[in-house]
Amino acid sequence: MRIFDPHIHMTSRTTDDYEAMFAAGVRALVEPAFWLGQPRTSPESFYDYFDSLLGWEPYRAAQFGIQHFCTIALNPKEANDPRCMPVLDELPRYLAKDRVVAVGEIGYDSMTKEEDEALARQLQLAIEHELPALVHTPHRDKEAGTRRTLDVVRESGIAPELVVLDHLNELTVSMVLDSGCWAGFSVYPKTKMSEDRMVRIIQEHGSDRVLVNSAADWGRSDPLKTRKTGLAMLAAGFAADEVDKVLWRNPVAFYGQSGRLDLDPVLDEPKPDESATYQGNSIKRGGE
Ligand SMILES: [Zn+2]
Repeated sequence: MRIFDPHIHMTSRTTDDYEAMFAAGVRALVEPAFWLGQPRTSPESFYDYFDSLLGWEPYRAAQFGIQHFCTIALNPKEANDPRCMPVLDELPRYLAKDRVVAVGEIGYDSMTKEEDEALARQLQLAIEHELPALVHTPHRDKEAGTRRTLDVVRESGIAPELVVLDHLNELTVSMVLDSGCWAGFSVYPKTKMSEDRMVRIIQEHGSDRVLVNSAADWGRSDPLKTRKTGLAMLAAGFAADEVDKVLWRNPVAFYGQSGRLDLDPVLDEPKPDESATYQGNSIKRGGE
């Protein structure tokens, strides 16, 4: 089973996770920029984080045979902190980088007017940079939040096939698929979706424009939920080809729209480059 996890926060995970993910079939992933739990107090700490998503973390993933791509954005929660808003002005510098395959994660947390502004501005950045957008839906009041998110996406003028709305459930899947956007599902151990609920959604709605992710981060989560969903699909009678579509071809098709998803052949064994050393990377800022 070859797996592309389209949403996972490896910065918060260990090398044991990378090893287990490789053994489970994960060969590529996308790490969206997000909230680190501890609120940031200045834009500079975002830039160091973005640099690490573009340098250190792909280097770390490569040691375990996994290709690492990322999405860059000001996350919805921190859009409410005026100290963080200047990040929006620096995003174009990052969105130009090769391993950035989308703008994200953007969207709503508490649906404030600051979040409105950050979401609308970042959808425009996606249009300007011809990138897909990864849009997170709020955990509270999900139905109303998803409906409002779809309105903002429509008003932005971005092509719906360039947008994935993530963290969906049974109540929000239809409106998203009807809109022409992609439908993302985060399979978590306790909250959000389970693998069995995911199987039922695919039975009912089909697998077109469906992405399944672990969204594993610093909370209780499981980086192997993608594989567990694949196994649940097989147990429910889906063909291996259908599992491959959901866990590999769909995320490749979605992020491939960036024109930057340069995938190496899938390997059976990790082939880390032992001679590789991390040189650090830092994107020049300040108008030069
Ligand atoms: Zn996330």
